[in-house]
This record gives sequence, structure tokens and C-alpha cells, in this order.
Amino acid sequence: MTNYIFIDGPLDAILHFASPASPVDYLRYPIQTLKVGALGTHKTLGLAKAKGARYLLASTSEVYGDPLVHPQSEDYWGNVNPIGPRGVYDEAKRFAEAMTMAYHRSHGLDTRIVRIFNTYGPRMRINDGRVVPNFISQALRGEPLTVYGDGSQTRSFCYVDDLIDGIYRLLMSDEVEPVNIGNPHEMTILQFAELINEMTGNTAGIRFEPLPVDDPKVRQPDITKARRILGWEPKISLEEGLRRTIPYFRERLGL
Ligand code: UDP
Repeated sequence: MTNYIFIDGPLDAILHFASPASPVDYLRYPIQTLKVGALGTHKTLGLAKAKGARYLLASTSEVYGDPLVHPQSEDYWGNVNPIGPRGVYDEAKRFAEAMTMAYHRSHGLDTRIVRIFNTYGPRMRINDGRVVPNFISQALRGEPLTVYGDGSQTRSFCYVDDLIDGIYRLLMSDEVEPVNIGNPHEMTILQFAELINEMTGNTAGIRFEPLPVDDPKVRQPDITKARRILGWEPKISLEEGLRRTIPYFRERLGL
């Protein structure tokens, strides 16, 4: 991704999703995360320019950092600690957005930017490290769920099929500026842990562990823009999405 990319023949569109996205991964690979967000974005933009292809950047709610505006709408500039451990992901994606807009403005490249909020579904890695795979696999093993901090921080979880539908609609639209795609149904991590224990019948309870540095205290997408421009909103409730996701983890764990 960070070297020159040569592809034979025409390309209609390039979708740049390459990056670690789990905090555990980008804390383990900080330099690679910065490189793929910066150099990888430059190389894929260069390829799109050479081919006259449409370009979609997968950005993130992390561009809002630990937000001081709630819920987060696209015109909020964010509250990011550039030198904290999470900064490697947040700043790489912020740079990627800046680079994408510069290619649009300077070279007339046909670009899209999706800001993806917390997403889950089948085929996530068991050891992904993010909260959904952690909690489901802990619950299915009959272990206590590891809640970081006091669990009062909030997140809003979107089922993967809804996310894909939103991204496809954005790709096919003519909106150049960033669009949030996520599910506005917000809850605390403690509430989420209780829901997972209830849905899996896990009686092992909860174990509290230290909160990671700069862990955002709240997160909820304002999806007014996606509703207006793309006619999109999520359709799959958290309970329904979890009913589709839990059996996948049960099978992968051999339970
Ligand atoms: N979290 C937790 N226990 C875990 C994994 C994550 O309490 O085993 C918390 C984490 O501190 C954060 C939230 O769950 O507040 C979501 O974390 P995740 O790693 O899924 O992604 P983030 O939204 O922070 O990028």
C-alpha cells in the first residue's frame, strides 16, 4: 500500500479501506498505521488519478477524537490528542481526509469520504480486541466481560449490512464532503455488557479493567446528512444484529 501501485487495465472505482482499525492493532502497529493512512492514501489517490477512477476513503469517527460536541455531525472539527497513543490512527485518518480533499480540489478527482462509526457483525476476528468480539467470546466461554473504566463511556453500534448499504449509496452519490455512517442508538459500555450477558445467558458477570488512554467518553453519529443526501438510515436493531452475530462466534469457538 505504501509503494507505487501498478494495475493493468481500467478501474471504475477505488475504495481505500486498508488500515488497522482496532485500537489493540493500531497501538501495536503505530508506525504502520500512520504509513498506511498517509503514504497508502497518497499511493491509492495517485492510482485513482492515473485511471480516472472514482475514489472512496474509509475514514472514521476517530477524526472527532474525544468529542466535545454530541452527537457528532460532519461539521465538527474534533478534539484529537496528536501525541497520544490513539493519535497514530486519528491523525493518519485526518491526514487521509485532507489529502483526499486536496486531490479533489487540485486534480478534480471524483472523491468520497465516509466516516465510519462502530460497526460489528459476523466474520470479525475473535481476537480483534474491539468490544463486540471481546464481549461475545468472553460470554460464550462463560467468562466475566472485561469492561474498561467504569463502563460509563458510550458507543453506538451499527450492523455491518447497514454500513455496507450506506457506503454503497455514498459511492454512487455525488457528495464529495464527508458523510457519517453509523447507528445513532447509543448506550454505555456497561449497558452493552449487561445486554450481551443477558442474550448469551452468561452468569459470570463483569470484571472492571483500566480504561485505555484517551478513550473517547461519548460517541454517537448525527446521521441527518446521510438521511437527507443518501436516503439512508440503519434498519437492523442491536438485538437483531447480535442475534445474527453471536452464532458466528459460537461456531468459531467450537461451542
Ligand atoms: N472496551 C471494553 N472492554 C473491552 C474492549 C473495549 O470496555 O474488552 C471499551 C473501550 O474502552 C471503549 C469501548 O469499549 O470505551 C469501545 O471500544 P472498541 O475497542 O470496540 O473501539 P473504539 O470505539 O474505542 O474505537
